[in-house]
Amino acid sequence: MSDDMKKVLVIEDNETNIYLMRTIVEKLGHQVIEARDGIEGVELAISKEPDLILMDIQMPKTNGIDAMKEIKKTDGLKHIPIIAYTAFAMKGDREKLILDGFDDYLEKPVTISNLVKLVDRHLDNNNL
Ligand code: MN
Repeated sequence: MSDDMKKVLVIEDNETNIYLMRTIVEKLGHQVIEARDGIEGVELAISKEPDLILMDIQMPKTNGIDAMKEIKKTDGLKHIPIIAYTAFAMKGDREKLILDGFDDYLEKPVTISNLVKLVDRHLDNNNL
């Protein structure tokens, strides 16, 4: 295990998207932790303290916005960058998600280059 290896928590209910995220993030040399809904996502954020979180918005049990807010108000987790990704494509949605408290936004369908850029950017910031 390399010193540069980071933990990335993927919170997503769609298996195809989970597979895509896992494949790309592991290719970048990082470890992937998976949650299938927002409740499990918050639990894993607390127990695993990941370096980065990729958060779907539409999920069972609780949506990604509520799960993000739960994580952001938990002591010791506030610093973790949380990237929202969603099929919302309407003008203003990106700004709204940032205002809600997300650190960044990734539009579905996720492309490899966009995901690689975001993961690199936020994990590098963590090293500063
Ligand atoms: Mn979903």
